[in-house]
Amino acid sequence: MARVTASGSGLRVIVSARGASRLKDGHVWVYRSDIVSAEGVPPGALVAVADHRGQPLGTALYSSSSQIAIRLLSHETVTDLPALLRQRIAQAVAYRETVVQDTNAYRVIFSEADFLPGLIVDRYDDILSMQILTQAMDADAVRQAITSDLTERLHPASIIERVDPRVRQLEDLLPHESGLIQGEKTSTIFTMNGIKFHFDALEGQKTGAFLDQRENYAAASHYAHGDALDVFCYQGGFALHLAPRCAHVTGVDSSRPALEVADQNATLNGSNQTQPEIEWIEANAFDLLKDYSTTGQRYDTIVLDPPAFAKSKRDLDAALRGYKELNLRALKMLRPGGILVTCSCSYHVGQADFVQMLAAAARDAHRTLRLAQVRGQSRDHPILLNIPETAYLKCVIAIVSK
Ligand code: SAH
Repeated sequence: MARVTASGSGLRVIVSARGASRLKDGHVWVYRSDIVSAEGVPPGALVAVADHRGQPLGTALYSSSSQIAIRLLSHETVTDLPALLRQRIAQAVAYRETVVQDTNAYRVIFSEADFLPGLIVDRYDDILSMQILTQAMDADAVRQAITSDLTERLHPASIIERVDPRVRQLEDLLPHESGLIQGEKTSTIFTMNGIKFHFDALEGQKTGAFLDQRENYAAASHYAHGDALDVFCYQGGFALHLAPRCAHVTGVDSSRPALEVADQNATLNGSNQTQPEIEWIEANAFDLLKDYSTTGQRYDTIVLDPPAFAKSKRDLDAALRGYKELNLRALKMLRPGGILVTCSCSYHVGQADFVQMLAAAARDAHRTLRLAQVRGQSRDHPILLNIPETAYLKCVIAIVSK
């Protein structure tokens, strides 16, 4: 079982020259292949890190099984881990107070990007949804420090843990189920940009909602008009934001449960008579776009927000082909003056790759595209410049000029 021990206890991990230079460059991960010695270090321990000459590099959390063997917490010596966690949680919460607007649903803690590697906490109204991703964060004392501090600061009605079984397996942690860890409330309604959404903490895919798109929803709605198509719509995040500005909106997804919630969300916001009814279609997006583009369907606004196509670097070429196919078809269907909102949440597809793919798609579709905005993830998902993995979402808004 995971255990946390103060670095004062003498637990030490020695890293190779490559591992050391990675840490000196500002990253916080050292891979197992760069660990020279971790003798007697138990799973999830708080460890002192030193280079091969014995020079101290800081304090880290150790994993005995993940490929990411250590995640640096501080360049200093840390002896009181719960106190450090409380301080970092306070900073994460304070940061959200400066960047989050128009919503009661946002990411409170984003792992490495909030200097709390292995911990993700999302807030949906008065429910907190927590994900534990490492041995160290799974330790009882650590969990207790986190939940009691979050409770004190945010006064949630309940805290729910969402378990990713694959992550627990990679971390060699005993399997357990998602569920309530405090309080009883498991569902609520949250609001973003004035639009309401159902949240059911124990249903839905992965996170409950795609909070990282919140600012992109607002940006997209600014340009949206006419007939709109939201492809990969999930529970209607974009579609519901486009509706007040559009004559007709269609949402497409292959998941029926997601579309059922999308429809309930539409009803929740439907009191506004000026809003068009949204049509939800259960389909494979690739097939539907192929059909629609060949049968001459036309739109003024198209959103493409597929799941990550590149799960690893090796998938990059195949992923870019997938993105290009989708974007090419969408571009062919847009009327002059039409808006394309196109996203990628694959970290391995960089922003430059993505924009280049889009340029190639525009060329092949014989359309002239003007870039309106190149965007990323909402600001409650901060990016650390020296940890490139913290930046993953791309959202390009472009206008078809002919
Ligand atoms: N735009 C959504 C998030 C989309 S997540 C939002 O803002 O909330 C990706 C979605 O793609 C998921 O809902 C998933 O069910 C759907 N999906 C995955 N593969 C698909 C496919 N081949 N065709 C249609 N939908 C697909």
